[in-house]
Amino acid sequence: MRLILFGSPGVGKGTQAKIFSEKLNIPHISTGDILRQSVKDQTEAGKKAAEIMNRGELVPDDVMIEIIKDRLNKPDSQKGFILDGFPRTEVQAEALDNLLRELKIEHVSVINLTADEEEIIKRLNRRRACRNCAKIFTLEEIKGLDNCPNCNEENSFYLRDDDKEEVIRKRLEVFKSSTMPVLNYYEKQGEVIVVDGIGSVNEISESILKALKT
Ligand code: AMP
Repeated sequence: MRLILFGSPGVGKGTQAKIFSEKLNIPHISTGDILRQSVKDQTEAGKKAAEIMNRGELVPDDVMIEIIKDRLNKPDSQKGFILDGFPRTEVQAEALDNLLRELKIEHVSVINLTADEEEIIKRLNRRRACRNCAKIFTLEEIKGLDNCPNCNEENSFYLRDDDKEEVIRKRLEVFKSSTMPVLNYYEKQGEVIVVDGIGSVNEISESILKALKT
């Protein structure tokens, strides 16, 4: 299965991508996670990306296209993949089409996960990441915990700079102006499956599964 999970920041793409990646045994390719890893590794590209990400803006297309090219050329991507956070601009969507053609990949399903803006701001404000393994939790999930339930690191929860309210608003603005056109791009090509992103994690996974089957 090859899947593009489209949707605004904070709509739950990462959570659902992880679930389906485990269920289907295919890689979850999150460009945000790849960038955060290069920030953590303090590579030159990572240092440049950190400033852009902290402002809630988009990393340049050429950088992102190279990242996705490398990743899709890795052997584990041959059996399928779930893209989370890519493509985020029309230029990226066109580059992805060219790349898929080169790789002789024909069918990719596009799921548009939706939620209204106020719900998204509320969710992003209430999420925390682990500094060590980067897994995202809600405040409820880590209430009273000192150690990360995923990697056991102590006192590792933090509010990502780009999850602070002023940056969230910027990210949503960028989503509307630069990323929404990607949806039109895919709608013109064929079917985009719309899934309501409001509900429990399980309910949303069920809806995605049902939509994919039909
Ligand atoms: P995410 O975790 O997907 O919300 O990504 C976090 C940040 O990484 C975004 O706000 C952007 O600054 C950057 N980023 C991730 N994916 C892309 C992309 N496809 N194009 C440009 N910037 C990206």
